Amino acid sequence: MGKLRFKAVDKAVSREPLEVNAPSAKTSEYYAINVFNKKKMQEYLSQEAFNSVMEAIDKGKKVDRKVANQIASGMKAWAVDRGATHYTHWFHPLTGATAEKHDAFFEPAEDTSVIENFDGGKLVQQEPDASSLPSGGMRNTFEARGYTAWDPSSPAFVYGNTLSIPSVYVSFKGDSLDYKTPLLKSIEAVDKAAVDLCNYFDKNVTKVIVGLGCEQEYFLVDDALFNARPDLKLTDRTLMGHSSAKDQQLSDHYFGYIPMRVAAFMREFEIEAYKLGIPIKTRHNEVAPNQYECAPVFEEANLATDHNQLLMTIMKKVAKKHHFKVLFHEKPYKDVNGSGKHCNWSLITDTGVNLFSPGKTPKTNMLFLSFFVSVIRGVFEYQDLLRSSIVSLGNEHRLGASEAPPAIMSVFLGEEMNKILDEIETRVSGKKMTPDEKTELKLDVGKIPEIMPDNTDRNRTSPFAFTGNRFEFRAVGSSTNVASPMIALNTIVAKQLKEFKREVDKLIEKGVKKDEAIFQVIKIFILASKKVRFDGNNYSDEWKKEAEKRGLTNVSDVLEALTAMVSKESADVFSEMKVFTHRELDARLEIDMEKYTKKLQIEARVLGDLAINHILPTVYGYQNVLIKNVRGLKELFSSADFEKLAGTQLESIKEISGRTAMVNIKVNNMIDERRKANVIEEVDKKAKEYSSKVKPYLEEIRYQIDHLEMIVDDEMWPLPKYRELLFIR
Ligand code: ADP
Ligand code: MG
Repeated sequence: MGKLRFKAVDKAVSREPLEVNAPSAKTSEYYAINVFNKKKMQEYLSQEAFNSVMEAIDKGKKVDRKVANQIASGMKAWAVDRGATHYTHWFHPLTGATAEKHDAFFEPAEDTSVIENFDGGKLVQQEPDASSLPSGGMRNTFEARGYTAWDPSSPAFVYGNTLSIPSVYVSFKGDSLDYKTPLLKSIEAVDKAAVDLCNYFDKNVTKVIVGLGCEQEYFLVDDALFNARPDLKLTDRTLMGHSSAKDQQLSDHYFGYIPMRVAAFMREFEIEAYKLGIPIKTRHNEVAPNQYECAPVFEEANLATDHNQLLMTIMKKVAKKHHFKVLFHEKPYKDVNGSGKHCNWSLITDTGVNLFSPGKTPKTNMLFLSFFVSVIRGVFEYQDLLRSSIVSLGNEHRLGASEAPPAIMSVFLGEEMNKILDEIETRVSGKKMTPDEKTELKLDVGKIPEIMPDNTDRNRTSPFAFTGNRFEFRAVGSSTNVASPMIALNTIVAKQLKEFKREVDKLIEKGVKKDEAIFQVIKIFILASKKVRFDGNNYSDEWKKEAEKRGLTNVSDVLEALTAMVSKESADVFSEMKVFTHRELDARLEIDMEKYTKKLQIEARVLGDLAINHILPTVYGYQNVLIKNVRGLKELFSSADFEKLAGTQLESIKEISGRTAMVNIKVNNMIDERRKANVIEEVDKKAKEYSSKVKPYLEEIRYQIDHLEMIVDDEMWPLPKYRELLFIR
């Protein structure tokens, strides 16, 4: 029975690190070699075409069709020089993965020869027959048309032999069917609101960009072991497995020595990433065995999002060569840490100012504080919306499981920043102000202390933390398309910035001086969002109680959390910021719920099959060994001795019978529940039924199997065990 497993283990153990085919050149010499960036555009495009692309990038101006032809021809020439034979619009449908449909450049010509062809029309817009991609019912089948359209703000690239053109994906009626469309809209919203507010301080600011750096966590597992685990193969996580005697207790993996085979893999995917202009900067071991992290230098959010999606693709491909599988699932193994994707987020002006960098003079501090308190208030006012952007079936295992931030949204500021906000609050409220201070305030806002945030004060338990010059959204799951949390964050911050300015304008209208008006609004925002600030241990039970007292929401149920995306509050802010229409939100919710149901359905099926076809036969086999042995003892010994000698084995036989019976019953019950749930038509009711009736069986069945794993002869156990999956590399 255990033959397959041992073969897999043998294979995995004997693997040597692969030689990395590293270019002898310096990184700078091949960096972005496969990207149609500014430098290449200058080389391959006419001045007119180049200017047109630049205007599209910087000002969102439409590219004229005629010019598009020129751009297409330059892009094609470059791509063919880089070895491309095909082209594709590369987009982010709501499956969460990326999608592409390759077309060859060649076109048959009349005289039976072929020509290479790619015109502006094909560059700008395409109509893939992508009718099987999720649309949440927005595309009727009879007009199952979705259009992809070129996004000039993210440069085209050649990957493999294909020119890939980052694109948005919208329906016939213009509804977004992807992540990129609303992301771009949210970036525009926050840009506009931020510029308006910046202009109080500096008229030269004309654009504010969103900065994003994603720390990507992942697990590696040898592919032979992976292939011997149907659950990993089909669900990306282990549905059973007793914990290894040693896992992460000794904290000896975190930041430890990177194993050579892993280092070779990392080096190779870094090289591939560099060629595509993805600026990977750090790599290290994470907390759990065989868990790692990499992070690029932050970039503009739309580009960073494309790069993160592309990076995940590259990692999967390169892993194959090194006989690894990369697991991006949020919780591939029980009882060891899961994986997240911290999103480091900031706003930066075209004058080069990071709006979350505190600065030294009071004036710059005012600018900083205006933005700072707007973000905090945004998280407070839209806790539920923010949470809805990061929940999923996979992330559910992490959130609130003492390893990742819980389902309560709060903001960590650090001692220094909290002190500053508290000071502003009490000072302006008049209680502790001396007459001198009062006059000073009226004359000038010279009282904001110099801000020197303590960078080292990092609270790892907070879902949303200020880390010196940026905010870090830590509740994001490792497999998530980061567009989703970015859309939410940009939108709610845009809204708060707009509110901030509105309040200031109101005061100015009443005759309050500009600086003082800003200062007063900062105070209003501090007071309004105080409850969301928390620097303590977010994993503790005290925090749960405290948060409840404060009136913060704590929603651990994924479906309930998801539903917040269509609440009136969310729909209003999304439509005010022109990011989502109500229809689009409804469709998204439907897709997310369907995804949830289908994933659970697959997990339940896989577990059922494994239990019945792999585990039970093995366990019966071992039980028979015991029975035979007990019979032998009975033959050999007197009944008094027999009682003594066979006692433990008889216990095991009984325990096996008990547990196998439980597995059988529970698998059957689970199948029944699935049958009942499957006939439900309404997407939300069906998801709820799956969540409340089917899901609990996954744990209950696993519980029995994990105990059986402890009893059965190791040689017979059919599946690679945790100690193998987690420690062999
Ligand atoms: P840590 O693990 O200590 O949080 P890492 O170095 O792993 O930090 O990752 C930090 C990420 O934050 C990197 O992607 C980095 O480029 C990014 N980052 C740094 N400054 C900013 C900023 N101002 N805006 C957005 N991201 C930033
Ligand atoms: Mg890190």
